[in-house]
Amino acid sequence: MKSIFTKPFTQQEAIDEATIERVSELLRGGRLHRYNTLEGEISEAALLEKEYAAYQEARYCLACSSGGYALAVALRAAGLSPGDTVLANAYTLAPVPGAIHNAGGVPLFVEIDDAWHIDIDDLQHKAEASGARFLMLSHMRGHIADMERIVAICKTHQITMIEDCAHTMGARWSGVRSGNFGHVAAFSAQTYKHINSGEGGLLTTDDPVIAARAIIMSGSYMLYQSHGAAPDESVFAQVKLETPNYSGRMDNMRATILRGQLQNLDDNVRRWNERYKVLETRLSRSSAIDVTNRRQNEEFVGSSIQFRPRLAVSGFEPLISNCLARGVDIKWFGAEHPRAFTSRYDSWRYLGKPQALPQTLEVLSRTCDIRVPLTFDLADCRLVADIVAEEVEALQGDFAMTQQGDLESPSKPKSQN
Ligand SMILES: *Cc1c(COP(=O)(O)O)cnc(C)c1O
Repeated sequence: MKSIFTKPFTQQEAIDEATIERVSELLRGGRLHRYNTLEGEISEAALLEKEYAAYQEARYCLACSSGGYALAVALRAAGLSPGDTVLANAYTLAPVPGAIHNAGGVPLFVEIDDAWHIDIDDLQHKAEASGARFLMLSHMRGHIADMERIVAICKTHQITMIEDCAHTMGARWSGVRSGNFGHVAAFSAQTYKHINSGEGGLLTTDDPVIAARAIIMSGSYMLYQSHGAAPDESVFAQVKLETPNYSGRMDNMRATILRGQLQNLDDNVRRWNERYKVLETRLSRSSAIDVTNRRQNEEFVGSSIQFRPRLAVSGFEPLISNCLARGVDIKWFGAEHPRAFTSRYDSWRYLGKPQALPQTLEVLSRTCDIRVPLTFDLADCRLVADIVAEEVEALQGDFAMTQQGDLESPSKPKSQN
């Protein structure tokens, strides 16, 4: 009998009782709006901003309605004008191209390398050739590219970098928090991210003008002084009448939930990484699966794992369905039509004629992805990895790998389809 995995891949942990109690108190008080405070009271949203700025080691923080909203506001606050080109990874999640489009920018996609980072050579080339003034860098699935090189490219070409840290909240590169390399960073608190209030976003920056503009844009009704990590009045005086209100505030209930979770974030990062390690160890033990070694500079958060089965691309559909039949939900980015999520640039037709990024398509055609919820224990992770390894190995005979994969590992015997 084949073993079956029965836990859902979409179940998050419960909100802790102390937080539920604090939310109940807030509900009893009825002051849900962030600017609805009693004399001398500091709102939960403002406290969250103060605490997240401290956690992130950033000067300013704005709590807002979603990660995608934070990205769009970041671009606008950083001075994007309609029609401006924005360099962006070709592999990211739909809120990213959506935010660029929303802010009036035009994405110019950059290839990814075979470990899912932005391809730095292609970035360099496109930065030079396009004269773009913005880079929206997604640390997609938590893989952090060589930030020293990216910062250098941005400096040379006077590019403003916005970091999409939806998958790197809590991560570091060379000891520096992900999000502190660019001019401004955006984080998401949507249910499947590292903190969960259902929906929510955080924007951080060290730039006072960007911070003031973002706060006014989020819909501050000129009550910006009650924010938790905002610049001085003098900065607002420069921008407040020149900046529109694009309402997207965070409410006090979500802020209360997030404040509770922020206290556990570092502990949860450790728990994610324990689970990741179990999956990584077991998957890489199979000669049928390639798992990328993470780089030394990277302190990542293993809230998902990516791997490449050594199968012909035609073997991926059967692999996904065989694993699903045993309860293991693998995402595959190579499918012709997006299922439940879109992460491939050719799914975003509203952007006009698809750009050609053959390297990205090649990498994604062999990329599998598993989400790692904290509701899985270590034994669950072992079982998930066992099932995946068994199913890949079972398909290797019928779907032997050809082409590129063989080049990566010349020691393995070549086989023909
Ligand atoms: C979740 C996510 C976002 C932001 O998503 P929202 O749903 O708008 O909070 C941005 N980028 C990536 C890569 C994401 O996964």
